[in-house]
Amino acid sequence: KKPVIAIDGFSSTGKSSISKKIAKKLDLIHIDTGALYRGITFFALENCLNDSQEIDIKSLFEKFDQIHLEFILNNGVLELFLNGKNIDKEIREPRVSDHVSLVAKQAEVRAFLLDFQRNLAQKGGVIMDGRDIGTVILPNADYKFFITASPEERAKRRHLELQHSGVDISREEVYENLKTRDKIDSERAVAPLKKADDAILIDNTLLNKEETIALILSHISK
Ligand code: C5P
Repeated sequence: KKPVIAIDGFSSTGKSSISKKIAKKLDLIHIDTGALYRGITFFALENCLNDSQEIDIKSLFEKFDQIHLEFILNNGVLELFLNGKNIDKEIREPRVSDHVSLVAKQAEVRAFLLDFQRNLAQKGGVIMDGRDIGTVILPNADYKFFITASPEERAKRRHLELQHSGVDISREEVYENLKTRDKIDSERAVAPLKKADDAILIDNTLLNKEETIALILSHISK
């Protein structure tokens, strides 16, 4: 039977792209759970703003039944659809990044996404990346990893990435957004970002993507 692999860790440690490559190598499906929180945040920004243009969390909760999220396979990659519309690009926009942690810290939101995520892993053969996969979503995963790197290095990586996709933003702004998200994610009451006791810790501050992948694979083939 194909394995279930949980990859958790801080933002911009390369979790997603590393997981994507490992999925390809081991013929697994890669599930980026951050996309789901981003998808709900995108919905909230479109449908639940108050007069000061901030997300009204109550109104979001009232509209849960209007949110239908779906991952659809396209060229071997899962893309996120909201109510039939592909939102894979939109959920990467800075306005979504700026609000996602506020949405993700709500117990109601996490409960809304819990079974959805578990069902995706039911048949095995998946590598799922997020913040609480090893601790809450898939506590019985065959392999668990927790990836971290220094905040400066992570800001550098995310900044480069954003620049490549044409987003005009300073390194300082990226650093601030990252630190804010780290703080909210680690301090929230429900499913805070933390390493599962039985997860393998990987600090890739000084490792590139290929080296990180090799290190993870060395643990899997053992
Ligand atoms: O992984 P990504 O940076 O796209 O995740 C965006 C945000 O979604 C995180 O900062 C976190 O607030 C939230 N998230 C979460 N639990 C997960 C995945 C993401 O709370 N499993």
